[in-house]
Amino acid sequence: MNTAQQFDIDDSKANHEIMTALDDVKLLRNLAYINGKWVSGTEFKPVINPANSEIVGYFTQLSQPQITSAVDAADTAFVSWRQLSADARSDYLLNWYQLILNAKQDLARLMVIEQGKTLAEALGEVEYGASFVRWFAEEARRSYGETIPSHIANAQLSTIREPIGVAALITPWNFPNAMITRKAAAAMAIGCTVVIKPASETPFSALALAELADRAGIPAGVFNIVTGKASTISHVLCQSDKVKALSFTGSTPIGKLLLSDAAATVKKCSMELGGNAPFIVLPDMDIQQAAQAACDAKFQTSGQDCLAANRIFVPHQQFDAFIDHFATLVTQQSVGNGMQDSTSVGPLINHKAVEKAQQLLNDALIKGATVTAQTDLTAVQECEGSYFPPTLLTGVTEDMDVYRQENFCPIAAVMPYSTVEQVIAMSNDTEYGLAAYVYGHDIHQIWQCLRGLEFGMVSVNSVKMTGHPIPFGGMKQSGLGREGSKHGFDEFSEIKYCCLGALPTASGS
Ligand code: NAP
Repeated sequence: MNTAQQFDIDDSKANHEIMTALDDVKLLRNLAYINGKWVSGTEFKPVINPANSEIVGYFTQLSQPQITSAVDAADTAFVSWRQLSADARSDYLLNWYQLILNAKQDLARLMVIEQGKTLAEALGEVEYGASFVRWFAEEARRSYGETIPSHIANAQLSTIREPIGVAALITPWNFPNAMITRKAAAAMAIGCTVVIKPASETPFSALALAELADRAGIPAGVFNIVTGKASTISHVLCQSDKVKALSFTGSTPIGKLLLSDAAATVKKCSMELGGNAPFIVLPDMDIQQAAQAACDAKFQTSGQDCLAANRIFVPHQQFDAFIDHFATLVTQQSVGNGMQDSTSVGPLINHKAVEKAQQLLNDALIKGATVTAQTDLTAVQECEGSYFPPTLLTGVTEDMDVYRQENFCPIAAVMPYSTVEQVIAMSNDTEYGLAAYVYGHDIHQIWQCLRGLEFGMVSVNSVKMTGHPIPFGGMKQSGLGREGSKHGFDEFSEIKYCCLGALPTASGS
């Protein structure tokens, strides 16, 4: 812990690196944002650049009363924010959207330095994140209720959609911008106020969004960011009666903890949790094309993506040809600092993640798997960064951790299968159910997969599947609820049924 209260640009070499990387250094904030003010705790914690393990800067650790004050501020702001017209809330969000887009280069650089992904991926994420702000700004004007044909004589029946109240949003480090905007824009557009707890690895991306929300004129108390010890913050948010909705994105084990903590106050909970995505190559698929798509679906964000292709299934007859193509693609990857144009795969988030990847690999090798190809790491050997080489693993069996767990690293596990029925059963043989990929031409087999796969999102012949208009979310232990799309409001609103009866007239008729 460090007790520095302000950013000091001479604090460390890496800190200087981030300051010089930004055109607008005021986007770099290290205090929490509560009720329209920047608030300091008494302690500070470092953020590490995964590309070189240098300290990027320090962010503040709030005390329990400070976290409670953020909930109180959001609760007070809710009274007036919900009463604004939908147009007025929409205008605030559109201001924010424009400022995010104007700052996209800086937001992307900030993200690379604290998260490690490549600059192209980071820019893509900032644009993706901004798209939710525009989408929900537009949807704010269309949050209709309905009229219901009455079963009661002379009564008028209808529903109205009302904002639920203060929403607590807890987010992960792998998409430090978009996981915030996908939740916050929906909540704020419908009339909720938010208290956000970003991941401790990536607080600066979140705090930059707060700086832009402040500049967009979003009223004090509507958008709050609290930083500090995860269990303390989450417990305050879960136990508070003032917090009416909890929206979490992160791992399934932490999601379960939060669900049980929130049970005491019966909050509306939405959970975007882990995945174990199958990538199915159908027998009539061009193998070269399939290998390229599987490679893209596996190595984006260094494999640290809830949608990453965890288990790649290829028909027996095409297996060897597929492995040849995939192995070539693995050796062509370039691992390095995400700021360099030549980098295709950045570092993992930290050294603990590298250790976990190595454990998964060791477990697979002990149980009989083979490393068929691996990207050369010579170029990053001198760096202290948390690098792990993209790895092609064959001989994978169902008892291996790499098959069962969400591996969250660039290990590609490729397995053969015999029939479409078998590959659907293998794909479903997991407690997760977030996303699945299918590549092929035969419409009958594609339809068989679409109907048979127990996943919330199934993408056929396209690696890209996400975006603002689609309902993002998982089945089974991958989560509860949907984000984005017209369904995104459901997690932050209540449907109120109104029965407007008619009193009998004085004459009794
Ligand atoms: P994580 O460890 O579950 O952390 C997520 C958030 O929970 C962070 O803000 C973290 O805070 C907080 N947290 C950690 N321990 C906690 C505790 N004991 N009590 C309360 N809060 C706690 O997940 P992650 O490693 O950041 O992210 C990777 C996971 O997110 C993967 O499983 C991935 O699949 C999932 N994910 C899912 C989606 C989706 O849409 N379904 C999208 C992206 C990621 P600290 O950082 O301060 O520890």
